[in-house]
Amino acid sequence: MPELPEVETIKRQLEKNVLGKDILSVDIFDKRVVVNEKEFVKGLLNKKLKSIERVGKVLIFQINKNSFLLIHLRMTGQLVYKKDNNFIAGGHPIDNAFNVPNKFTCVVFKFSDGSCLFFNSTRKFSRTSLVSKIEKEKYVDKFGIDPTKKEFTYKKFKKELENKKVSLKSFLLNQKYISGIGNIYADEVCFFAFVLPDRKVYSLTEKEKELLFVGTKIILKKAVEKGGTTFRDYLTAEGKKGGYVKYLRVYGWAEKECLNMCGGIILKKVVAGRGTHFCKNCQK
Ligand SMILES: [Zn+2]
Repeated sequence: MPELPEVETIKRQLEKNVLGKDILSVDIFDKRVVVNEKEFVKGLLNKKLKSIERVGKVLIFQINKNSFLLIHLRMTGQLVYKKDNNFIAGGHPIDNAFNVPNKFTCVVFKFSDGSCLFFNSTRKFSRTSLVSKIEKEKYVDKFGIDPTKKEFTYKKFKKELENKKVSLKSFLLNQKYISGIGNIYADEVCFFAFVLPDRKVYSLTEKEKELLFVGTKIILKKAVEKGGTTFRDYLTAEGKKGGYVKYLRVYGWAEKECLNMCGGIILKKVVAGRGTHFCKNCQK
C-alpha cells in the first residue's frame, strides 16, 4: 500500500514530467473511481497541471485558481507515466506495471507531447475528483499534521496524543491525527520507540512519546530519501527501486529473529484491523 514516502516519490517524479503540459484527452475506463465523470473530463480538457501538492497519501494537482484534481490511490492504486518508452510508476506495485493500459487502468490522461498518465487501481478503491478551492481546503483540513513537514513538532505531536483511548497503532494509522502513515511505517515507528503497537495511547510515558516523535520523523524522512518501500522488482524510469525496503526492521520480518539481537522472534498479529509486526522482548 502506498504510504507517505511512496506518494511523495511519485509526486517528485511527476513534477519533473507532467507540469505545464496541455491535457489533450481524458479517457475513463472505469467510472467507479471517478467522481462526477462528465464535469471531470470537461474541467480537465485542454488545461495544464500547474503544480502538485501532497496531503497525507493524496496527490492534489492544481489546474487553476479554483480547480484542483485530487488523486487518492488508497490501498491498491497506482500511477504510471509513459513517455515514448520511458516509464515512471508509483503506488501499489504490480507485476508488469509498465504494460499499460491494462485491466486495472481506470483513467488515462493524454498530454500534448504524446505522453500519458495512467491511473490504475487493482481493487477499484482508488478515487479521483475535480474540486473547487473551497472543497479542496475542506478536504485538506480533514488531515492531521504531516510528519515530514516543519510544522510537525514534539509539542503538536504530544497534543495529538492527549486523551486518546485507542491503541498506538490505531492512532498512527488515523489520518486525522498524523497524515501519511500506513501499516509499514506504523510498525517501524513502534519498534523504534520500543512500544508495543497495541498499547493504549493514554498509557504512554513521556520518554516513549519522545521516542515515538523522533522515530516518526526519522523513519519517514529516511523513507522519502530512499524513494519509499517496494517489495517487488519494480523500477522507475530513473532505474530506482523503492530503496527503503532494506531499512525495514520489523515489517515483513515475522517469525525471524529480532534485528536488535535480543534473542526474540518477530511476531505478527492483527492490531487495529491490520497485520502488525513487533518484538515482545524489545517493545513494552
Ligand atoms: Zn527484540
